[in-house]
Amino acid sequence: MSQQAIRTRIAPSPTGFLHLGTARTALFSWAYARHHGGQFVLRIEDTDVARSTQDSVEQILAAMKWLGLEYDEGPVYQMQRLERYQAVIDQMIAAGTAYRCYCTPEELEAMKAGQEARGEKRRYDGTWRPEAGKVLPPVPAGIKPVVRFKNPVDGDVSWEDLVKGTITISNREIDDLIIQRPPAADAPEGTLGVPTYNFAVVVDDWDMAITQVFRGDEHINNTPWQINIFKALGAPLPAFGHLPIILGDDGLKLSKRRGAVSVTAYEEDGYLPEAMLNYLSRLGWSHGDDELFSREQLVSWFDGTHLSKSPAQWDPAKLEWVNSQYIKQADDARLAALVEAQLAKRGIAAPAARLVAPCALFKDRCATTVVLADWLSMYFAPVMPAAEDLTTHVTDAVKPALAALADKFADLEWNKAAIQAAIKETIGAFGLKMPQLAIPVRVLVCGRAQTPSVDAVLELFDKEIVIKRLRSV
Ligand code: GLU
Repeated sequence: MSQQAIRTRIAPSPTGFLHLGTARTALFSWAYARHHGGQFVLRIEDTDVARSTQDSVEQILAAMKWLGLEYDEGPVYQMQRLERYQAVIDQMIAAGTAYRCYCTPEELEAMKAGQEARGEKRRYDGTWRPEAGKVLPPVPAGIKPVVRFKNPVDGDVSWEDLVKGTITISNREIDDLIIQRPPAADAPEGTLGVPTYNFAVVVDDWDMAITQVFRGDEHINNTPWQINIFKALGAPLPAFGHLPIILGDDGLKLSKRRGAVSVTAYEEDGYLPEAMLNYLSRLGWSHGDDELFSREQLVSWFDGTHLSKSPAQWDPAKLEWVNSQYIKQADDARLAALVEAQLAKRGIAAPAARLVAPCALFKDRCATTVVLADWLSMYFAPVMPAAEDLTTHVTDAVKPALAALADKFADLEWNKAAIQAAIKETIGAFGLKMPQLAIPVRVLVCGRAQTPSVDAVLELFDKEIVIKRLRSV
């Protein structure tokens, strides 16, 4: 018996950036497919025509690329598949599993008001639902109908959720949902209607032979409808895995109001994609106590087990720590290119080639490439020491020693050993302790009182800049 090929997908709606929650779902879907030697598909769910934008599609594609979540098929755009949805709708109407409903918005509004007044659950009342022996109202003129799914009225829908275990929802809880809306009243003849999410998702998952659907648990209430539609179509059911939401550090759902929620924002904020991937994978999944691991390890471990049923907690401090670990290990030339881009955003031109050695020196103390850029800007742009540092450290008593050091530097062959020797000679000549000279040097040259070893830091400057800054007081 041949085993069915594993196929997973991510199906973002292009109505904004790639949300962290969607990125995590994409990551799990991707890792699951890779683990099983299967395929991962990208589908763009753009049927919300009013809110979908090309710009958003591009942002999503860029974020997926940045994270290295390469897909084997797609992007497939739902709006390019309207004919296929229409064909399935036609089949369903012919088979009696879907029907046209001519209720006007006013009628639906009145239905809702009546149900609310009677304290009933809001649901479609079945006016246009065909039943054996039932006489339907006469079709009104001039109304383009919606199409509804004829949901079973009895029984339960039950599935073994890959994350949450058995979930059962009674068909009595759900009504005949709209699966296709008509084209606009003034649309040209022949314009096709647009399917709703719950219908398009089923046709697509069926056509794309998706075997496991991972998505956020806000979709749990949609799944019974989808399962019923799969059954009505005689299509094989995929397995479903609903991932708990990600909570912000205040315990509320991660949202824009509570900090960055787009993958792109983290790229801009100086995070490395492999750190992001590593961190995201730990939101709702674990492999023992492992916190730092490679993509390859993730793929080899991610078999769909150890998925947590409870919400994950977004922890910016932990993400920062993970990133700092990856920055430490990152190749200096790669960091240099990233810092070059960060500095360019600040209007500071710094060629990557000149940033390689500074990155090597500073990367151990920087959690992000933004923090690296904060440090390394001193090599390419003026520094502005804090007034307090100037008063505390650059005292009148030390100024003659600073002037003497600047003079020594002028004749120096510029390297770490020579710089160190010049500093030692100067503290000897002026009877100072190392920090009494090294700290004011740092304040004037670097704009800060604390840096890594002063000779190592100075060596990476243009000698002339160091001298000029030392002589600025
Ligand atoms: N477009 C849906 C969303 O972004 C996809 C849900 C699903 O994966 O079925 O939430």
